[in-house]
Amino acid sequence: MTTNKRTIYLLNPRDYSPELIAVAFAKTSRSPLSFLTIAEELNAAASAQFHEKWVVGYGHASVAEHAVLHLALENVSRLAVETIESNRLASYTEKSTRYQKWDADSFYTPVEILESAFTGLYLKTVGMMFAAYNEVQAPVRSVIAGQYPQRRDETQEQWDRRIRSRYIDSCRFLLPAASLANVGMTINARMLEHALCKMLSHPLEEVRSIGEEIKRTALEEVPTLLKYTEASSYHCLVRNNLQRVPLPEKTEPEKMVQLLDFEKDAEEKVLAAALYEYSDVPFNSALLYIRSLEREDKAALVEKILRERGRHDAPPRSLEHASYMFEVVVDQGAYFELKRHRIMTQTPQPMTVNAGYAAPRLLSEAGVDDRYCQVMDQVAEVVETIASWNPEVAAYLIPNGFNRRVLMTLNLRELFHLCELRAAANAHYSVRRIAYRMVELVRQVHPLLAGYIRLPEGESWQTIERENLTNTGLQ
Ligand SMILES: Cc1cc2nc3c(=O)[nH]c(=O)nc-3n(C[C@H](O)[C@H](O)[C@H](O)COP(=O)(O)OP(=O)(O)OC[C@H]3O[C@@H](n4cnc5c(N)ncnc54)[C@H](O)[C@@H]3O)c2cc1C
Repeated sequence: MTTNKRTIYLLNPRDYSPELIAVAFAKTSRSPLSFLTIAEELNAAASAQFHEKWVVGYGHASVAEHAVLHLALENVSRLAVETIESNRLASYTEKSTRYQKWDADSFYTPVEILESAFTGLYLKTVGMMFAAYNEVQAPVRSVIAGQYPQRRDETQEQWDRRIRSRYIDSCRFLLPAASLANVGMTINARMLEHALCKMLSHPLEEVRSIGEEIKRTALEEVPTLLKYTEASSYHCLVRNNLQRVPLPEKTEPEKMVQLLDFEKDAEEKVLAAALYEYSDVPFNSALLYIRSLEREDKAALVEKILRERGRHDAPPRSLEHASYMFEVVVDQGAYFELKRHRIMTQTPQPMTVNAGYAAPRLLSEAGVDDRYCQVMDQVAEVVETIASWNPEVAAYLIPNGFNRRVLMTLNLRELFHLCELRAAANAHYSVRRIAYRMVELVRQVHPLLAGYIRLPEGESWQTIERENLTNTGLQ
């Protein structure tokens, strides 16, 4: 007998497998029974049969979103982490280059290198970077220790924890992409299929073999939903087709951040969308009304929408109707943080040494800037040599300090979130300057709405850059 009483409960993953939970939810579409009754009537074989028919056979793929996995990945290179974390609808936490130090042997040596004539050169170059990374820590730490002395009530360990990110933030510029990291990933089976397809089609052996291992491991929990996942020849074909297209060389000096594209009247559209949500007129009527307003009336409306937003309140969704395309040229360490903002669309270029490298001011204050530049210049030469044989493999050697170009398209709501989080005083200086500059550029075109993005007062991207970098590497 069915009842109309509201009931809310967990289908506990300790009692039911992810595939069974997914079927129990999917069946509510046709069955009047409670989820619990449906789940109790199911078993592994019936769940597999359901998924074969509906998810695999008829393409009702959203059912697979109810099967969620927590995957623990240990000792994967930071280069591989890029592909692992390139999925929008998944959650990640990884080993931090700001709060942890790397041991000298904590790096990956790719199979491609081991089977080439470059093994010795690769190991020597990685060894040089780790030696420098470890060597510069003591002098850089002493500069910071002078600025933030130990408190009387603080142990040595507590003091180091308090100041660690301040000196490690600058030492991390020397860490290569081969550095090993741990990543925790929470992902549903639908997204995991897509992620695995990318991994299995990847040019790097490490990424392909991580994909195989994830698939093997995940199949223990979701035997049907991932059974048919394999590499995509289409992915490989597109890569091959586009890699050889000759493009003109760069013609003008590059900027750290450029606002490439935006809709001029996006501010009016956002305001019209905000009113639309609470009205019963067509969108064009709301837009006509907004266009008829004087600037101060528009400003008053923006104030009504954004002024009372609390620290933990997201701005209204209507802000998503304005979007911006940026090109950012930033050190790899900072890019690694920016890429975690999944909601925006990102197109990073492959890692090379062609866009120069940034130099932290702290290294110069500690008297180790010459050592830093010497290592970076030597690495650049080695990378170029190995890249002429295999550019993807050469990327393992590129340290965090080298710049990377990335195209980013994001809406105004995500811009609020990203810039407020990344401009905060505790964020890395390299990302802070990007956040400030992005806001500055959007305020020039859409001052009413972007004026409400909250940044710490008294700073600018120029002051942050000047205080923290002696060179950005950009010409
Ligand atoms: C001080 C600080 C320290 C950090 N330390 C580490 C660290 O040690 N290791 C590490 O791996 N990362 C670290 N991060 C990165 C952080 O965990 C986020 O991954 C990153 O800042 C991206 O932010 P986001 O997830 O809020 O943003 P976006 O991906 O841009 O998402 C925007 C918003 O969409 C919503 N959203 C997006 N996806 C989901 C989802 N799956 N579920 C629910 N809501 C979602 C949230 O509201 C989110 O704020 C740190 C960040 C900060 C600020």
